[in-house]
Amino acid sequence: MKRVFAFGKGRSEGNKDMKALLGGKGANLAEMASIGLSVPPGFTISTEACQEYQQLGKNLSDQLWGEVMMGLKIVEKDMGASLGDPFNPLLVSVRSGAAVSMPGMMDTVLNLGLNDQVVRGLAAKSGERFAYDSYRRFLDMFGDVVMGISHSLFEEKLEKLKHLRGVKLDTELTASDLKELVESYKSVYVEANGEKFPSDPKKQLELAIKAVFDSWDCPRAIKYRTINHITGLMGTAVNIQTMVFGNMGDTSGTGVLFTRNPSTGENKLYGEFLINAQGEDVVAGIRTPLDIVAMKNSMPGAYQELVENCHILERHYKDMMDIEFTVQDKRLWMLQCRIGKRTGKSAVKIAVDMVNEDLVDKVTVIKMVEPRHLDQLLHPQFEDPSAYKEKVLTKGLPASPGAAVGQIVFKAEDAESWNAQGKTVILVRTETSPEDVGGMHAATGILTARGGMTSHAAVVARGWGKCCVAGCFDIRVNDVDKVLVIGKTTMHEGEWISLNGTTGEVIFGKQALAPPSLSDDLETFMSWADKKRKIKVMANADSPADAIAARNNGAEGIGLCRTEHMFFASDERIKTMRKMIMSVTQEQRQAALNQLLPFQKSDFEGIFQAMDGLPVTIRLLDPPLHEFLPEGDIDQIVKDLTAETGLTSDEVYSKIENLSEVNPMMGFRGCRLGISYPELTEMQARAILQAAISTRNRGFTVLPEIMVPLIGTPQELENQVSLIRSVAKRVFTEMGSSVNYKVGTMIETPRAALVADKIAKLSDFFSYGTNDLTQMTFGYSRDDVGKFIPTYLSKGILQNDPFEVLDQEGVGQLVKMATERGRKSKPGLKIGICGEHGGEPSSVAFFAQIGLDYVSCSPFRVPIARLAAAQAAL
Ligand code: PEP
Ligand code: MG
Repeated sequence: MKRVFAFGKGRSEGNKDMKALLGGKGANLAEMASIGLSVPPGFTISTEACQEYQQLGKNLSDQLWGEVMMGLKIVEKDMGASLGDPFNPLLVSVRSGAAVSMPGMMDTVLNLGLNDQVVRGLAAKSGERFAYDSYRRFLDMFGDVVMGISHSLFEEKLEKLKHLRGVKLDTELTASDLKELVESYKSVYVEANGEKFPSDPKKQLELAIKAVFDSWDCPRAIKYRTINHITGLMGTAVNIQTMVFGNMGDTSGTGVLFTRNPSTGENKLYGEFLINAQGEDVVAGIRTPLDIVAMKNSMPGAYQELVENCHILERHYKDMMDIEFTVQDKRLWMLQCRIGKRTGKSAVKIAVDMVNEDLVDKVTVIKMVEPRHLDQLLHPQFEDPSAYKEKVLTKGLPASPGAAVGQIVFKAEDAESWNAQGKTVILVRTETSPEDVGGMHAATGILTARGGMTSHAAVVARGWGKCCVAGCFDIRVNDVDKVLVIGKTTMHEGEWISLNGTTGEVIFGKQALAPPSLSDDLETFMSWADKKRKIKVMANADSPADAIAARNNGAEGIGLCRTEHMFFASDERIKTMRKMIMSVTQEQRQAALNQLLPFQKSDFEGIFQAMDGLPVTIRLLDPPLHEFLPEGDIDQIVKDLTAETGLTSDEVYSKIENLSEVNPMMGFRGCRLGISYPELTEMQARAILQAAISTRNRGFTVLPEIMVPLIGTPQELENQVSLIRSVAKRVFTEMGSSVNYKVGTMIETPRAALVADKIAKLSDFFSYGTNDLTQMTFGYSRDDVGKFIPTYLSKGILQNDPFEVLDQEGVGQLVKMATERGRKSKPGLKIGICGEHGGEPSSVAFFAQIGLDYVSCSPFRVPIARLAAAQAAL
């Protein structure tokens, strides 16, 4: 097993396709070096070696150490300098880098190789101030990362010295100040650990490698992987690389950039640059960086080369890149490149632009945009940004677009616990650190006082498509007293605030949110994706307005119209519905149903009209009837219902008692209702068919499909189908006109899936109700899973919430089997799915793969399903 892979300009033992073994950073350093870009020479220790280290009980094997020494020799030869040589010192950086980017989660040590002798050699070559500045930075970082000494202990010494000297900035300290600081930093080691700072550079290297390996398993890294579902990796690689210095005076600097704008997609370099600084200064947001274009004037040669490198890398990787670089005394060095994280807006624009620029083909860009990118595009925006102008408290950096409204909390753990109680929160921090990821994930938006567009908060939020306003310098965050001060406004924990991540505005109170609008680029992009996709995408829509939204988002029909939602649309409707439920005699029920029919009919007409030419699948009443009763105090309910229905309070009481069930989800619901009260199915079938004929008569093309819910036996379906067909005959005679219609069923009980062959004979179509099918296959109550699913996920008993991501192994097997059995008995049977999984990308891919005709999902997930379906087809 080879554990160490060397790289340097024009030579590399690795390449970009070796991410699993070399980590993303190592693989891309190797790639950049091999295509001739200036990369400081170094080597990468593989993730396999990390796994070996863990298996050896956290010990470096002799073979690994031998290969590290060989790798080091090559670098020393290349640089004409040696680690620990006071006359010609080589300093190295030791950085983590897993196969999947985990920004800031694992450890890094810079300037390794310094000690009291080496620093003198460095001072003689490169100046005293620079040498001691590097040394004190190394002591701090090495102490914090490798020796477990809190960074704040070093920070205290620094602050004390600055106070003593009467200066504000680190850069105002002189060489002799820094020398003094080095001595006090060394004393921190002894005070904190009772041990001296390890001065042998090889020992430093060994300890640093171990620390990076160990950081793979630190709690924050584990948490990050859990949140982001990162599994199956061997560990982190370690990149050991010649140090280049951005802090060597005003002809040096460091920066990070994206080759295109990661928020908007604009084809223009987008990044930040700090003169006389090391990389960590930019990411930490300690000093406010300059826009990257400022480098054009201050370092024209290096800037020119950087621009060229950006073009080379985009052409080579065929994607937008995220780059880190350093300029040491006017010379450019590339320190990292990777595919750039971006917002949904940016992803779609870049995809369309890159095809138009002939950089990539359409198939490539369809794979480049992730379904979650569209999810972001479909995120809410503010209903009317001009309406809140008076309420804008301040403005920060627009770090991640979209709008968020929530109650403010000041600690990540509070964000998590409030969120667990069902509250919507905005996490307010001076600046975020990787420890905060759990709270950041739980929050609906993030507001920070410090940090730039590439700060931790900005990068992480953008990756999640979460609204974030960063670098809001005129706010004061007191997380001890839980107070936020913005100008004259003081806000306390729990007060409402609104954030506009697209403009950076921080707004007082709760502002109204509106659904997002779709761009021309998105339409172009989606049209390319649609050409590749084989499975149709329909929508779940219960009202004419939803149907219009669904159609605008590209739905090819309605796969599920839940008729019960219509009964809640007005006071009059729900009261009539209750009359129906409370009726004692069949005549009373029929009278209430006669009153309900016009409501249903008019909604169906609106839906048929909106979906002109596309199929509309309408499901008969499904939920347990008690769901239509009012909530609250039982005496009040009885009083209201007595008034509404004209029944006596005794009658009302006994009716309510009658409706109450131990297991309502497995109780009197679904087709059981229509079989017990045929007049219910009759009314609904009549409303659907009358609406279909009247809409058709107004010039629209109607394709009605009536769907029977929750059947378990063919006999149940047979009962409802014959009832519907007899109603149809009557309606056609009454109206003197007929219409083509289908009658099909949902497959949402395991029994229905098992006898799918028999059911298919009676059915024009199947639609899997994977919500109920998941509930009944697992035996998990849909409404109560919140109590244990989080534990199951954190213990690894489940990889995903099965109500969100289809359980392909179990529920998926039933779906596949029922599809095969159904189509065997009725070849060509139309089959779709309308559970929540219809809008979840990995589930959509599964449904496409097993040959379903369509998926149906909520209107705002339609574009996501369309893209997921296209990607599945590629
Ligand atoms: C289902 O069970 O998957 C379904 C679509 O029906 P409902 O969610 O209304 O029970
Ligand atoms: Mg269901």
